This record gives sequence, structure tokens and C-alpha cells, in this order.
Amino acid sequence: YPPPRHDAQTSLIFPPGRHSAGPNFYLPRRRKRVTPAPGTLWRSFKNSFKVFSFPFHRKYAILAESRTDLTVQPLEKGGIILEHTFDALVVGAGYAGSVCARQLAEGGKRVLVLERRDHIGGNAYDRLDRAGVLIHQYGPHIFHTNNKRVFDWLSRFTVWRDYQHRVLANIPDGQGGRQTYPVPFNLTSLETAFGPAEGARLGQKLIAAYGAEKKVTILELRQARDPEIAALADYVYEHVFVHYTMKQWGQTPEEIDPNTTARVPVFLSRDDRYFQDTYQGMPLEGYTALFQRMLDHPGITVELGTDALKRLDLSGGQTRLDGTAFSGPVIYTGQADELFGFRFGPLPYRTLDFRFETLEQDDFQGCGTVNYTMDEDYTRITEFKHLTGQVRPGVTTIVKEYSRAFTGAPGEIPYYAIINPENDRRYAQYRAEAERFPNLYLLGRLAEYKYYNMDAIASRALELAGLLT
Ligand code: FAD
Ligand code: UDP
Repeated sequence: YPPPRHDAQTSLIFPPGRHSAGPNFYLPRRRKRVTPAPGTLWRSFKNSFKVFSFPFHRKYAILAESRTDLTVQPLEKGGIILEHTFDALVVGAGYAGSVCARQLAEGGKRVLVLERRDHIGGNAYDRLDRAGVLIHQYGPHIFHTNNKRVFDWLSRFTVWRDYQHRVLANIPDGQGGRQTYPVPFNLTSLETAFGPAEGARLGQKLIAAYGAEKKVTILELRQARDPEIAALADYVYEHVFVHYTMKQWGQTPEEIDPNTTARVPVFLSRDDRYFQDTYQGMPLEGYTALFQRMLDHPGITVELGTDALKRLDLSGGQTRLDGTAFSGPVIYTGQADELFGFRFGPLPYRTLDFRFETLEQDDFQGCGTVNYTMDEDYTRITEFKHLTGQVRPGVTTIVKEYSRAFTGAPGEIPYYAIINPENDRRYAQYRAEAERFPNLYLLGRLAEYKYYNMDAIASRALELAGLLT
């Protein structure tokens, strides 16, 4: 991969997050930990480095009048006078918000990014846990795309670790033991499940029906008229899809959006990778470092720990921030229903509980992710060291994912939009509300109520920023 071109040689500093012990800050470049004084603003010397960390009981706003001499003052003593200082407002510092902010800033706009969480990166955020293992706080994130523009653009902010994601299904073998085979279910899975000879014969039959190297969704395969292929489809449905989907969505594969199970089709190939995209990898120093570089631009100011909805007012037909009208673009990447006070009812989501376990062993499962497709309450276990390539002998951290309905209770995060015609209709009402504001743009997985991967969001953010500059 090409080396990154950094705009500024910033020190890479990111906070370990709310749940970690003590105010330790991770410095990947220097490989040492430092303990900052409370309230310290971290910034690079070469550039005005405005992504910052602070103890959570104190809040600061950065006044960006001067790019070289930033001043910090507690919010309680007065906020930012937005219209004098910024050309655009971005709500959320995930992929949607951060990519858009950077592209707008490179187009000459001064951008304020408000982020509710105490860190940047949205759901792609990663950090070191107490054992020093780099974990993804909101579930495993593997970057993959066929979009060269997106890959090249992101490559400005990171070097990539070449990583091809592989996933195993772990199922009971019917004799008191366990069996594993690749997911997506492929020719190797077939031979493991049915034995080499019978598996090879069935594989040939499938290839004759659908073609070599073809991907066939489970719903398509279940339409097969040939009794042997239909029986095979039932096997895959039962062993790979129905129980996992019930755990993940609380509904059967037939009840959910068909595009969802189509993400993991039966693959008539020996290729056992989870994705076949041209560009795949993990940011070498992690996603948070990538975001930190992306947001490190003189035109970008980031405020963490700030709920934009407490400051953004859409009543009265215009966008107002802190009580003052703001006519520049407002790019909103949070929940669409929340933005409008849930006036058409809440949009349904699935949320996840992540249970992290740190184990005193080098390796737990030998690969990045294992899906428990028939039993267990969790859907999958991910072992981060396999994803990140981190070498850390004697210790490893895994995460188990438990899915359930999102209720909107405090602290719950809406992870997956539940896409169906009824929910799409409700979403359309919110979108129509947003369209009443000529300077308001809904962007991202939450704001657009879609099942987007990181690359799709980055692509949409680049497109929107292009239109706005
Ligand atoms: P988010 O990352 O959710 O960012 C939105 C941000 O807005 C958040 O930080 C939020 O705090 C902030 N916000 C919301 N409301 C407000 C407010 N009122 N004020 C201030 N801030 C606000 N994609 C892949 O390509 N590969 C993967 O392997 C992959 N794995 C995934 C695994 C899981 C478990 C999940 C849930 C998703 C995965 N994704 C993956 C998808 C990926 O997470 C999304 O595509 C991406 O994070 C979407 O970015 P976003 O900016 O739209 O949303
Ligand atoms: N799926 C399944 N079994 C698997 C893997 C996936 O049934 O072993 C189905 C399930 O419905 C899941 C969907 O395919 O929600 C998409 O899977 P993917 O791995 O893309 O989900 P994500 O990583 O986005 O949670």
C-alpha cells in the first residue's frame, strides 16, 4: 500500500475511553504512556491540533479565532459564537462526520464538529484495554472496499495492515463435539459438512446449476426445484442462517430485508475470505489514529462530550445553534427520529451488548471471528489480535456480541436499522422534515437509516462535501 501523506506530524494521542482505568493516554509512535494533568489540552506544536481529551467532569470549548494560539475556556463561562467563526457545522465525528469535515476543510471551509461521545471515530473507535490489547469498543470493524477513490483518500491518513478477514461457523457436530467450517458457506464448507466425496459431488451439482465462483443467496438457493439442491439449501439455512438471524434480528431470514442475508451468500468457490473486495485491510495504528489525522486540520474544530441536540434548534423554520441563526451547511449524522423529537414515532433499531474478556493466553480461537450459528446466546466471538496483528504474548482479548431490541434507554446505542417497508415509510417522513431546511443534510448510517459499511459512508461523505465546496 502507498505510505500515508500526513498533513501534520502530530503526536498520536487518544484516550482509552470512559471504561478504562485511570487517565492513561496511548502514544503509538513513542510507545510510552503519560499521565496528563487534569484539564490539559493536547495539541501538536506544528499544527493547531484540536482533537482533545479531558476528564469527563469538566467541559471545554475551544475558541478558534486564532489558529496558532488556541484558547480554551469552560463552557459554563460562555460558548462559541458560531456564525463568526465557522462556515459549516457537522454533528457526529464518526466516518460520515469526519470524512465530510475534512473534505470541507480542504475546500476552505471552517468546520465545527460536535460529538456527543468522549471520543472521535463513532462506532469505528478503537482503544487499548487494560491489558494493552487494541480493541474495537463497538464491535469488530474490518475495512474492505472496491471503491478506489475511497481507499486512496483514506490512505492519506493511515498505512494499512494487509488483512483478509476469515470467519468460521462453529456448530455442534451431532456427536457431542463441535465442528467448524468457513462462512460464507463454500465448497470447503460443503466437504466438511458432508464428507469429501459427497461434498465434492454436491459442489459439482451446484456449479452446474449456478456457475463456478458464483454467489447465491440463501433465499435464492431455497427456491431450487432440484430436490438435492433444495435439501442442501435446507441444511445451510438450518446450520448457518436461521438461528444466527433469529439471534441477531429476532426474526427469520424471510422476515428481514433480503439484502441483509445477501451480504453473506453461499459462495461456489474455494475462496474462504469473508469479503472479496479489491482493497481490504486494517489501519496499521488503528481507526482512532486514522480519525485523529483526518480531523487534524487547521480548519476543523472538534468538541467532544457535546450533545448537538441541546444546542441545535430547528423550530421556527431555520437552523439555530446556541440561539443564533446559522445558515451554513449543517451535516447531521445522528438519528433522524431524535433530531425531530420522535414526532412520527421512533425508528426501530437493534442494539448490541458487547462482553469483553481478557484471557491469559496467546491465542483463543486461531482466527478473527467465529460465528455461533446454531447455539449459544451470542452471535459471534471476535479475537482482536488476529485483526490488528498486535503482538502481545500471554494475553488476548475477545468480545462476544449479544443482540437485542433497541429501547432508547440511556446508554443504549442504535447499531442496526431494521429495514422494512413500514420503517422506511416512517423514515421518509423524517427525511421530508429535514428537506424543509435548505442547509440541513442527513448523512450516515443513522441519519439515512441504512445498513452502510464504512466505505459506503466515506463515499457518500466525499460526495456531499464535494457538492458543498
Ligand atoms: P457512527 O459511527 O454511528 O457515527 C455517528 C456519530 O454521531 C457517533 O459518534 C455519535 O455519538 C454521534 N452523534 C449522534 N447524535 C449526536 C448528537 N446529537 N450530537 C453529537 N453527536 C452525535 N463497516 C465495515 O465497513 N466493516 C465492518 O467490519 C463493520 N463492522 C461493524 C460491526 C458492528 C458491530 C457495527 C454496529 C457496524 C459495523 N460496520 C462495519 C459499520 C460501520 O460501523 C458504519 O458504516 C460506520 O461506523 C458508520 O459511520 P457513521 O458516521 O454513519 O455513524
Ligand atoms: N448471517 C447468518 N449467519 C452467519 C453470518 C451472517 O445468518 O454466519 C446473516 C445474519 O442475518 C446477519 C447477516 O447475514 O445479520 C449479515 O451478516 P454480516 O456478517 O454482514 O453482519 P454484520 O457484520 O454487519 O453484523
